[in-house]
Amino acid sequence: MLFGSDTPLRIRLENAWTAHLGAHCRFCHGAAATIPSLCDRCAANLPWLLTRCEKCARPLSFDGVCGACRQQPPICNSTHSSLRYTGDVVILIHAVKFGGGLNLCSTLATLMLKARRPIVFDQTQVVSVPLSQRRLRQRGFNQSLEIARQLANQLQLEIFHRLRRTGQAPAQSSLKSARERRRNVRSQFELQGQAPVHALIVDDVYTSGSTVQEIARVLRRHGSERIDVWTCARSVRA
Ligand SMILES: [Zn+2]
Ligand SMILES: [Zn+2]
Repeated sequence: MLFGSDTPLRIRLENAWTAHLGAHCRFCHGAAATIPSLCDRCAANLPWLLTRCEKCARPLSFDGVCGACRQQPPICNSTHSSLRYTGDVVILIHAVKFGGGLNLCSTLATLMLKARRPIVFDQTQVVSVPLSQRRLRQRGFNQSLEIARQLANQLQLEIFHRLRRTGQAPAQSSLKSARERRRNVRSQFELQGQAPVHALIVDDVYTSGSTVQEIARVLRRHGSERIDVWTCARSVRA
């Protein structure tokens, strides 16, 4: 037999291509060992988010719950971000989003699991943030889904595919205030049937949290008992 495993050929080719592209560090061209496209030294120099609010990932000087989340608890049970959205992290995420650097999704997924791994159960499913059909056509791929695929693969979880984005609202990144962002995403998402008992929402950047909170609201309404959010980077301004 030409291929001795049950893994589909497309995925095997994708993995081989990713390994080839990821052999050298994106920043210094040194050898990448444990993280695709990133050497250990450049990875260590990234702005890691070590202590933060466990509800919204806001940087804190200790692990705990911030004042804003104590006053108005978010719908999600917890939020994790590995890194601050600044410096080389912005370069990496922009390379994925705007430069079509899809192979970097496995870099982001590996970084997302490096410092901490999510608690998972038998019923955990990974939920990505859907794009509208129009934006999907413009960009050609959904970076949140690509990162979710990598993360689900590494954690051996299933991806939940029944959440849709229905609206044609402007991109969240084009809106300045948290209030505008909250209003913009209201009623944007639609779910058919039952939501996962435990949902792990995956996205690249957590900015105001409006999008994931809106998704969490829909998931809760459709039966999710626990919702955790796992993002690569946390905007430090919001
Ligand atoms: Zn390097
Ligand atoms: Zn908080």
